[in-house]
Amino acid sequence: MSAAEFDLIARFFDWPVKHRLNRLGVGDDCALCRVPKGYELAVTTDTMVAGVHFFENVKPAFLAHKLLAVNLSDLASMGAEPFAVTLALTLPHIDEGWLTDFSAGFRQLAERYTVDLIGGDTTSGPLTLTLQAMGVVPEGLALRRDGAKPGDLIYVTGSLGDGGLGLKIYQGYQSACPEMALQHFHCPEPQLQHGLALRGIASACIDVSDGLAQDLGHILSKSDVGASLDWAQIPLSAAVREYIEQTGDWQLPLTGGDDYQLCFTVPPEKQPLLSADCTWIGVVESQPGLRLNKHGKSQTIQATGYEHFS
Ligand code: ADP
Ligand code: MG
Repeated sequence: MSAAEFDLIARFFDWPVKHRLNRLGVGDDCALCRVPKGYELAVTTDTMVAGVHFFENVKPAFLAHKLLAVNLSDLASMGAEPFAVTLALTLPHIDEGWLTDFSAGFRQLAERYTVDLIGGDTTSGPLTLTLQAMGVVPEGLALRRDGAKPGDLIYVTGSLGDGGLGLKIYQGYQSACPEMALQHFHCPEPQLQHGLALRGIASACIDVSDGLAQDLGHILSKSDVGASLDWAQIPLSAAVREYIEQTGDWQLPLTGGDDYQLCFTVPPEKQPLLSADCTWIGVVESQPGLRLNKHGKSQTIQATGYEHFS
């Protein structure tokens, strides 16, 4: 590694580790972490490619936030407590302004959740950002996709469609109240508190990154079940309601991506243990497929959301 690269890492990606599980961070050939007895390591990776997953003119601090948030969201959906991430950066050139903004956005979210950046790799090439995130979860308590049973109730955190609306606003849709949806699109909040609270309660869980229909579809196929949703129960923000009234595009909350809320299933007897800010939207059934009850009629909905190879 050249002196310039070494300097770059020292200036933008090296700050002291804080989480109790991290023993050694940036600067050696490997980082060293501890996994406590009785816990399992949860590991996930996501890559964002310029022009594919983000527009090149998006603020670097937003890119950093989103890159970290989408990985933390995967840990949240497993009920894992995050403690460390590694960052593989491919940069077309060294742009100090870009790196300063990216590093600040990254550090701000990382410190909010006490997640340490413990290492990475820096290479030259078309702008590509890859993050690996690690968390711990007590053995046997991870919230997997394959545990839903007929009769379980389906819930979501927050509201749906805000990320998808944010993308539409970014692309030019004129909304009366754009700020919340744009914020949601650029800087989604990983639902870590909910994920931890759902340990031992949810029978299956997923984070909604590609649209509710597609992501709930993953729970249904892994669990070998189907489901019915109740349209009237789907939680919508005022901005998404207004969008649907203006455009008639009522499917946005079911198929739009970038929500990063959790969708989970719960056996009915555990329902009283849920926090008040989760919304019931449907039930798991033995009949395969996903059905939507809308204005008294049941219709089958396809599990289509954002697909990368379509
Ligand atoms: P090696 O040649 O052993 O892979 P590198 O020269 O790539 O080491 O990196 C030196 C140190 O800086 C390592 O500890 C590595 O984890 C860390 N590092 C490199 N790039 C990044 C980055 N973008 N963010 C955080 N740490 C990084
Ligand atoms: Mg390296």
